[in-house]
Amino acid sequence: MSLTIRQTIVNMLREQELSALDLAEALLLTRREVHEHLPHLRRSLKKALRVRPARCRLCGYVFRDRSRLDAPGRCPRCRGELVDGPWFRIER
Ligand SMILES: [Zn+2]
Repeated sequence: MSLTIRQTIVNMLREQELSALDLAEALLLTRREVHEHLPHLRRSLKKALRVRPARCRLCGYVFRDRSRLDAPGRCPRCRGELVDGPWFRIER
C-alpha cells in the first residue's frame, strides 16, 4: 500500500520547508505536477500551509503580495529570471 502523492507532500512539508522544485525532485514529478497539488493543500490546510515568498536571486526582490503559489517567471525590479521559491511548510 502506498501513500497518495498529496499525502506524501503533506508529510514532507511537516518535516521541513521545501520549494516546489525540491518536492518535484524528491518525488520524481514535474514542477507543474507539484503545482497542481498545492492549491488543494491550501484549501484543506488553510493557514497551516505556510508560504515563504519567492525571492529574486539577482537583486533580492521579495514577491510578498503574490497570492498565487507557483513560481514567478520574472523579477519586476531587475527583470531577472532567476527566482527562487516560494517555499512551503505545514505548521503542526
Ligand atoms: Zn530582481
